[in-house]
Amino acid sequence: MPVKRTGKFGRDKKGPMRPRRNMRFRLGPRGCRLCKDKSITIEYKNAELLKQFITEQGKITPSRISGNCASHQRKIARAIKRARTMALLPFVAE
Ligand SMILES: [Zn+2]
Repeated sequence: MPVKRTGKFGRDKKGPMRPRRNMRFRLGPRGCRLCKDKSITIEYKNAELLKQFITEQGKITPSRISGNCASHQRKIARAIKRARTMALLPFVAE
């Protein structure tokens, strides 16, 4: 049963509706590229694909920049980590 909040802790506490955390960090193309192209297979062997999702330093690009959806970002991250141990991708760029 929902507690009815009134007075001091009522809905006034939140104040006027305003958008939080605007998306100014969304730099890359909008939308998940991997969702659009279903033919792409995310695998550690697919180093050419994974290279597109690492920075020059060899880091995994955050999804807010790559634009990946959450599930594809997880798959990419897992594949990159696997590819690193298989020496297909660098841990740190020289
Ligand atoms: Zn996706």
